[in-house]
Amino acid sequence: NNFLQLGLVKDICFAVADRGYKEPTQIQKSAIPLLLNNNDLIGVAQTGTGKTASFTLPLLNKLFLNKVNRDNGIRSLILVPTRELAIQVGENVKHYNKYIKLKINTVLGGVNINPQMISLRGGADILIATPGRLLDLFDKNAINFKCLETLVLDEADKLLDLGFEDELNRIHSLLPNKVQTVMFSATFSNSINLLSSKFLKDPVEVRI
Ligand code: AMP
Repeated sequence: NNFLQLGLVKDICFAVADRGYKEPTQIQKSAIPLLLNNNDLIGVAQTGTGKTASFTLPLLNKLFLNKVNRDNGIRSLILVPTRELAIQVGENVKHYNKYIKLKINTVLGGVNINPQMISLRGGADILIATPGRLLDLFDKNAINFKCLETLVLDEADKLLDLGFEDELNRIHSLLPNKVQTVMFSATFSNSINLLSSKFLKDPVEVRI
């Protein structure tokens, strides 16, 4: 199908087909090849455009093709502003992961931290997290970023609106230098531009 032509492996395309997607959306057509090619990317796109698949599919693809010994480390991190979005992105990723079976974890605040600490033993291929809980887990030594390859900031405008700037700066200071970074935002503003210049390197911009 047309997802195959974007460069995704068959086992991810089968999972996409199982969800009933026939054609990639516009943002998916633009973003997926760029992300498979290791670019940093800023996507300006609203919810409903298929933006979640546009970053989760190439992420899964890269993690699947490039098997490494992650030890107890996190290979990729998707930061989201709200618990609801964490759950929603986590469910999406789990669908697309159906045949490739990577290790996916979702952590969010407002619930007991202990099961999250246990589930993070042995690290994860993808960790979906809200910023506060991520830092709580880091401070309890439950997270190791040393093999982090990819970072996604989803709904970056909302991350800023909800006051997570300090948390984002601290998280940035904990990450290795060479990390492919993807940022999605529904709007573009000076503060988004500043955040982008801090986190992204020579980003390609995609607007829908
Ligand atoms: P998002 O913009 O990521 O919140 O996605 C909006 C909705 O579109 C979700 O319910 C997705 O499952 C769905 N979706 C994403 N990509 C496609 C596609 N290529 N074809 C049909 N539906 C899609």
